[in-house]
Amino acid sequence: MLYVSTRNADEKVTASQAVLKGLAENGGLFVPEQIPVLDVSMERLKNMTYQETAYEVMKLFLTDYTEEELKNCIRNAYDEKFDDGEIAPLVKAQDAYYLELFHGATIAFKDMALSILPHLLITAARKNQVENDIVILTATSGDTGKAALAGFAKVKGTKIIVFYPKDGVSPIQEKQMVTQKGENTFVVGIRGNFDQAQTGVKQMFSDSLLAKEMEEAGYQFSSANSINIGRLVPQIVYYVYAYAKMLKTGALENGEAMNVVVPTGNFGNILAAFYAKNMGLPLGRLICASNENKVLYDFFTTGTYDRNREFILTSSPSMDILISSNLERLIYRIAGNDAGKNQELMKSLQETGRYTITDEMKEQLASFYGNYASEEETAAVIREVYQETGYIMDTHTAVAAAVYKKYQKETGDRARTVIASTASPYKFTRSVMTAIDESYGSRPDFELVDELEVLSKVKIPRAIEEIRTAPVIHKTVCEVNEMQSVVKQFLNVK
Ligand SMILES: *Cc1c(COP(=O)(O)O)cnc(C)c1O
Repeated sequence: MLYVSTRNADEKVTASQAVLKGLAENGGLFVPEQIPVLDVSMERLKNMTYQETAYEVMKLFLTDYTEEELKNCIRNAYDEKFDDGEIAPLVKAQDAYYLELFHGATIAFKDMALSILPHLLITAARKNQVENDIVILTATSGDTGKAALAGFAKVKGTKIIVFYPKDGVSPIQEKQMVTQKGENTFVVGIRGNFDQAQTGVKQMFSDSLLAKEMEEAGYQFSSANSINIGRLVPQIVYYVYAYAKMLKTGALENGEAMNVVVPTGNFGNILAAFYAKNMGLPLGRLICASNENKVLYDFFTTGTYDRNREFILTSSPSMDILISSNLERLIYRIAGNDAGKNQELMKSLQETGRYTITDEMKEQLASFYGNYASEEETAAVIREVYQETGYIMDTHTAVAAAVYKKYQKETGDRARTVIASTASPYKFTRSVMTAIDESYGSRPDFELVDELEVLSKVKIPRAIEEIRTAPVIHKTVCEVNEMQSVVKQFLNVK
């Protein structure tokens, strides 16, 4: 299987080359030429481990990796770094099933893909005789940064540079990043928001002069953001796994439709669900949940994507995004895999901040449902589910739970539903605790951590214990227009 750019039909590469490059030329994204069919029976999948499921799914997409290479990557990724042998356990609360994707090293769902990406990348470099050191450039709204740092720290032949919005992440997210060890890691706060960080990184990717300078110094860039297909493919796995486990426990009949609700920012997680559905997994509605930055809700209701609006800082910072990069992969597809048509829309987005799809394209979005939750609704659902069941979810998951309630009310759809639970509540302790009781607001961060353990009866994760006393290592802060010079400084280029 080959991968083609969403902006240039002539740019075709193998899977390992797509992983290596991260982004296609002139800002396009790599997509598989066609979505493969899931050719393993549910009867077999039902009894597979997470790792076995991962192999069955990923081998269909990463066709130029050998069986041994891929199994090696999987074995090294999904191991004791995860604090639950299931890797992605399902927990029922009220009438929804929470797929907990936060049991990895940095307690957010980004670990699901970023535990394996470094292995996929190093393998790809070897397969393609790459001699340069690979520099991972990453923009983060909070969770990708730490997960990528943890994945790439001390990995030979790589360096990783992370840009995060200085005032746009949670206190725990920031502490996790700035305490990262490893000579090859570099963390920078920018005076700007996530969209500006992401745009800055994308610009460096498509700067051919910079690429030449890097090449001369023995470096080449790649990406750990979900624009890299090596992030997206591992995310398809857990939808297949969740369906099979629902079947195994009798929560579903074989073939019965299962809805998924996904708290969405850059549109990577929900796009993986869309790919899973297109592989033949019996998924019903794909429910796209946004916070107050509801650009996707507006898109699904009107057919117009418009980022010309105020950027709102919310209690779910990993979803504070107005330019959802992976939506481009969906646009390309509903445009009939037409790179020219997609390019036109993306050009309009770049120049005017908006674009409108045709009615014909809109018809193909029938399996999606979009809605959003306000800050009050998000806090209310955390409190309510806790009071009723004792289960405590994080703010991002709560956006999804609140949107699911709206969806049920609006449609009356009672199909079995899995909510992607994307972070541990410990990562957003302050917002979670004040949602439960406002009087927690005056207490210091780590006191709240201890209190959360009491309330939730869930042990404090290692990732949190680690940063309690860890020294701050990374202190660089820069302006948006200094990102490139900061990269050069760190790499000692000119
Ligand atoms: C990244 C992230 C999201 C958004 O996922 P996308 O793939 O960017 O849509 C949601 N919740 C959490 C906790 C995240 O870290």
